[in-house]
Amino acid sequence: MTAHSRRSFLRGRFDEAPKMRPFGAVAPAQFADLCTSCGDCISACPEAILISGERGLPEIGPALGACSFCGVCIAACDTGALTDDQPWLWKATAKSTCLSLNAVQCRTCQDHCDHGAIRFQLQTGGCAQPHIDTDLCTGCGGCAAACPVGAIQFTQVTPQMETRP
Ligand code: SF4
Ligand code: SF4
Ligand code: SF4
Repeated sequence: MTAHSRRSFLRGRFDEAPKMRPFGAVAPAQFADLCTSCGDCISACPEAILISGERGLPEIGPALGACSFCGVCIAACDTGALTDDQPWLWKATAKSTCLSLNAVQCRTCQDHCDHGAIRFQLQTGGCAQPHIDTDLCTGCGGCAAACPVGAIQFTQVTPQMETRP
């Protein structure tokens, strides 16, 4: 363990929920060591979806837009913190604050999913509720950007289950 990652461990970083780093980010501990917070990926992203997070480390800004998986951020990174052989493990899920889960009609996320991953299932006596197909979801973030109440969150599947989009 390097001095940097040891400090991170002592601060409890690895107990935190993983951040959604730019496409191509290496594993979290490695990323914390390799990323210099230079911001090159942030300025290079043509979709302008990257922000400077804690300690200046780049992350995908909640609800800023969809990642096109163009790889421009990877090309802009000189340190090895972003590489073109990393699996993208993120999948969208609807939180309990979703309007449709609270009896308010809304299908905005479905309208903004270019991958057909969101279907609405009719419920007896209530609103249709969103179901996100993890096989079709690319984790692009388009639905999160469109959701009026910020009800889309992203979680990672295990590496064995998923490959690059
Ligand atoms: S892959 Fe492209 S759109 Fe996605 S974060 Fe990197 S530069 Fe931005
Ligand atoms: S856009 Fe948001 S509030 Fe509307 S159905 Fe989708 S997750 Fe729910
Ligand atoms: S993350 Fe992208 S692919 Fe997945 S449900 Fe949302 S818009 Fe569709």
